[in-house]
Amino acid sequence: MKPSNTVLSSFGTTIFEVMSKLAIEHGAINLGQGFPDEDGPEDIRVLAANATAEGPNQYPPMMGLPELRQAVATHDYRFYGLSVNWQTDTLVTSGATEALAACLLGLLNPGDEVVLFEPLYDCYLPMVKLAGGIPKFVRLDPPHWTIDPEKLKSAFSDKTKLVLMNSPMNPTGKVFSVEELQQIADLVTAHDAYAICDEVYEHIIFGDRRHVPLMSLPGMGERTIRIASAGKTFSLTGWKVGYATGCADMIARISKAHQFLVFTTPPNLQKAVAFGLGKEDPFYEDLKQSMQSKRDLFRSGLERIGFETAECGGTYFLNADISSVGFDGTDEEFCRLITTEVGVAAVPFSAFYQSENAKQNFARFCFCKKDEVLEEAVEKLAGFFS
Ligand code: PMP
Ligand code: GLN
Repeated sequence: MKPSNTVLSSFGTTIFEVMSKLAIEHGAINLGQGFPDEDGPEDIRVLAANATAEGPNQYPPMMGLPELRQAVATHDYRFYGLSVNWQTDTLVTSGATEALAACLLGLLNPGDEVVLFEPLYDCYLPMVKLAGGIPKFVRLDPPHWTIDPEKLKSAFSDKTKLVLMNSPMNPTGKVFSVEELQQIADLVTAHDAYAICDEVYEHIIFGDRRHVPLMSLPGMGERTIRIASAGKTFSLTGWKVGYATGCADMIARISKAHQFLVFTTPPNLQKAVAFGLGKEDPFYEDLKQSMQSKRDLFRSGLERIGFETAECGGTYFLNADISSVGFDGTDEEFCRLITTEVGVAAVPFSAFYQSENAKQNFARFCFCKKDEVLEEAVEKLAGFFS
């Protein structure tokens, strides 16, 4: 057989699939792959079911159903004061994943440099490389994951085409500060580059902090794409409905890739998500409160056992230092051990690094699960490690 694509053949099966499979084989509580164990609002799901029964179920417009595009524009103004023209500045995608792919394929030429923050979400690097981009990493370190301005600056060059960032950030749980966003904005502007902002956890942010899109900073509207996803906002991760907002010129460029990748996204789901985005404030407040109390419940359980945990200001991921309970193997060994012997699955943190010296003393736990499930997981871990 002739060789397959050299970029893809250098990557194994995604860690989420690997750990979920192992969890199923061993009947372990799956705190590995990030998905809630309770489906999102029933009214949204019923609306999708009715839309399927009533139809039409044929190709919707390539850019998305007008009602969803309008809902995205209204949402972005409501939460961030962004003025978005739904007819030119929005695009509906098949999940945030497709939006990311469309941005990278639509904007990059081979040899263009892309600034990425490491640790990084698993699909970023393969996609950058498939589009011919050259990754330039900026390392963030626990426990606070703050950006070193010098390291950030030195990742940019004349060849920088774009920065790809994620706030709130998977896997760290970091929420970028306004000062950090400003540093990024200044460098992006100085290099006449673009910013692709993966903001899928925009509504899962804790305490008094509010999500600030990079796009809302002065001058960034014309060079930023903001990506969000119904999967996270409505706890419907299997739906794969995403949306991108950006100026007309950038949306036009990325829709060139979108038209050949998927062309469109299921109309019933788009209709239901359009309805969901209009939900009143208490819905959004509940999502945040509920995730925050799950974080607190799970974190205090882990800390009782003796695990030290890294800061988590958003997302549904908490990272625990495995060396703090005396485990001296790798994170991969730890995650396999707890999945097969303890009955709790997590994701090894080193899976989110590509350059040398990956952090190997953290395990990423996903806490968007029923309280009793989190309590059971803590009990199992306590039985083994205490
Ligand atoms: N970006 C990040 C940071 C994620 O954690 C995820 C996982 N859901 C995605 C993108 C993918 O989102 P979607 O399922 O909408 O494609
Ligand atoms: N975003 C989820 C996570 O970080 C997983 C998504 C996937 O399995 N591709 O766990």
